[in-house]
Amino acid sequence: MVLKLYNTRTRTKEEFTPLDPANVRMYVCGPTVYDYAHIGNARPIIVFDVLYRLLRHLYGADHVIYARNITDVDDKINARAAELYPDMPPEAAIRKLTEETASQFHADVAALGCLPPTVEPRATEHIAEMVAMIETLVDKGYAYVAEDHALFHVSAMADYGQLARRSLDEMRAGARVEVAPYKRDPMDFVLWKPSEPGEPAWPSPKGIARPGRPGWHLECSAMAEKHLGQIFDIHGGGIDLVFPHHENEVAQSRCAHGTDVMANVWMHNGFLMVEGEKMSKSLGNFVTINQLLTGWHGYGWPGEAIRFNMLQTHYRQPTDWTADNLDQSHKTLWDWYGALNGADVETAKRPRGLMEALEDDLNTPGAISELHRLYQEKRYGELQAGLKLLGFSGKREAIARTDTKTGRRSGAAIADGTGAVTDRIAARLSARKAKNWAEADRIRDELVAMGIVIMDAKNPKTGEIETTWEIAR
Ligand SMILES: [Zn+2]
Repeated sequence: MVLKLYNTRTRTKEEFTPLDPANVRMYVCGPTVYDYAHIGNARPIIVFDVLYRLLRHLYGADHVIYARNITDVDDKINARAAELYPDMPPEAAIRKLTEETASQFHADVAALGCLPPTVEPRATEHIAEMVAMIETLVDKGYAYVAEDHALFHVSAMADYGQLARRSLDEMRAGARVEVAPYKRDPMDFVLWKPSEPGEPAWPSPKGIARPGRPGWHLECSAMAEKHLGQIFDIHGGGIDLVFPHHENEVAQSRCAHGTDVMANVWMHNGFLMVEGEKMSKSLGNFVTINQLLTGWHGYGWPGEAIRFNMLQTHYRQPTDWTADNLDQSHKTLWDWYGALNGADVETAKRPRGLMEALEDDLNTPGAISELHRLYQEKRYGELQAGLKLLGFSGKREAIARTDTKTGRRSGAAIADGTGAVTDRIAARLSARKAKNWAEADRIRDELVAMGIVIMDAKNPKTGEIETTWEIAR
């Protein structure tokens, strides 16, 4: 079986052959740290985490490098820092905002079961590499300096637009922005721009006296080169990044290095809608990862349910994020994990059908169908092994959800141990026998508060009342 991946660069599904199987390299564009990450941001993080896990499984955990950057210099960061901390000096306000947002992001994606990447480079720690790349591009005639800016000159590159498959004329026609007077061509894009007092600033590339800061596209080219080399295996991100961000990364890297490609395989995940609508703050359907974890549609949802729900759709398809689907995903995991409790799951090997689905361009819905089949056939060992490969714990206590009205956690009883439940049930039955109804009711309420559903039924043989119980989801 070989891994096949759909490559945006060639528009075909191809057999994946790493440049060096002992050193498989993947880059994914990470967050700009100015606000909570939303559920659309979570999609590439989860999708490429599954790919990272699969690559580690196929090539060995020590033979895969996954780089995902943190953009900590950006105009949105400057604006947000000034809004949140107006009394602090700008530099301190920006540092506080980017550090807090980055740690919130780490906590959010860890809750979604995502492994940390091998390297997580920050833009502000790679300014020297960016300046060097600009100087190379200017020296080679691909970029120019004008009015304290450095710009990439798109018509200097013969095949600019190849990744997005757009011609320069089409792109010019589509650009509605007012063109800055210092641009030679409306499509030329910023590599470096001058900073005003109070904005983050570093010494500029040669030929620019005023201090300045890098453009967004440049950081990924510089950091990918530093951590993965001039050509690497896989570059990923959301479909919205193909143009202009990834097109411009390709232009910068290929022209600076004189290479034919930046990455061999380009992978892009599809759009995410919420309840059938494009997510936007004005529509009121904007959902952050943190909201999902702490309170959305009545519950704080476990990260594993969010992860599972995301993987129900193939990564290249658009997906619609709904409360009903999330609830159904949680229920599925709840049922499966209930069956796994106590099952001998240590020795099983990874299920073949699941591996085949994943190796076919990361077909996670196919992999999930396979898990459903294993559950129905009571092949719990393989079910557990498959879940583990996809980044799931298989433990009910990990997928308790919190009722935001009552604060009650489903599965709270699991943490208390089943002994606490059976003792209470026995005490309630004796109270009933003694006709102490108040005490029986009190114990029942206690069990309900623990998230236990009880059912009384008369045993037809003995005529005695017997109580069965289960953990409420
Ligand atoms: Zn990028």
